[in-house]
Amino acid sequence: MGKLLWGTLLLVLALTGMPLLLGGGGAGAQGTEPTPTESAAPSPAPSADPEGSVDGEHLVWVADGAGGTEQLSLRDYLPGVVAAEMPAAYHPDALRAQAVAARTYILYKETVTTAAHPEAAVCRDSSCCKAWLSPQELRERWGENYSLWWDKICAAVEDTDGMYLSYDGQAIQAVFHASSPGRTEDSAALWGAAPYLVSVDSPETVETVAGLVSEVTVDAESFRSAILALDAGADLTGDPGGWVGEASLTEGGRVDTLPIGGVPFSGQASRTAFSLRSAAFTLRWDGSAFVFTVSGYGHGVGMSQVGADLLAEEGMTWEEILAHYYPGTALERLDA
Ligand SMILES: [Zn+2]
Repeated sequence: MGKLLWGTLLLVLALTGMPLLLGGGGAGAQGTEPTPTESAAPSPAPSADPEGSVDGEHLVWVADGAGGTEQLSLRDYLPGVVAAEMPAAYHPDALRAQAVAARTYILYKETVTTAAHPEAAVCRDSSCCKAWLSPQELRERWGENYSLWWDKICAAVEDTDGMYLSYDGQAIQAVFHASSPGRTEDSAALWGAAPYLVSVDSPETVETVAGLVSEVTVDAESFRSAILALDAGADLTGDPGGWVGEASLTEGGRVDTLPIGGVPFSGQASRTAFSLRSAAFTLRWDGSAFVFTVSGYGHGVGMSQVGADLLAEEGMTWEEILAHYYPGTALERLDA
């Protein structure tokens, strides 16, 4: 069961967005030494490994999604991950925390076998592993800010060279998500307990975060169809105003179970069925439609990226941010 749950976790993680691989053929993408032919690619992969870069020495097998596998250094690979996962405009300490979380996640993946690509630790399929953006994609995304943002992202990786989070001597499942409304979620509510993935405070409020709350409106017939597809035993007859019962909440404030038509549905199932941004929602019938009011974005487990940015703005260092969102973990450095 635990394995299945963690598999789900990886899927959810992937939904937070991350393709992988130096698709643009960054300098030094193959093997340990940059080659002249490869450096001709339009990629500003981090400069040739400087003296003492631990990331530059650590090679990761990456599946390219086309049946091939290549070996990239963390130094070459991580910037595209961080860039895909967190807005480059975020505070430098939030980006440093993100770099450590992403590095940790990759190191964790090296300790397990992924059925979809047993030959590679990670892949660039965002529905499987983590998001990664090629230099070309980043140029399109960032436009004239490309050089500025790229340098900032690379600095976050270099400033945390080789640093990762461990628990009991192992790289942790350093999952993260976009935003949490006040509290993060305990992984026990989704995938099974992990001592370092417990519910902690997160500073997001409606006042401090634009777009923290979203709404989804569903007409009665669509609502009925979606619920019956999940469980044909739900009794959705009579006045729609009587279909939905009172939700029970998780420790992190998300919907644990919600009775609909006499059947208890999990908050996660409801989130998926109605494409809600998170399981932190309320549901009401307004007389003509069902209205979900949703707070935050993502599964809610581990580091909140918006929260990390707010905490950094308040003066927290990246080390403090990581200790806050992954309590009980140790910050370690890869061996050179
Ligand atoms: Zn994968």
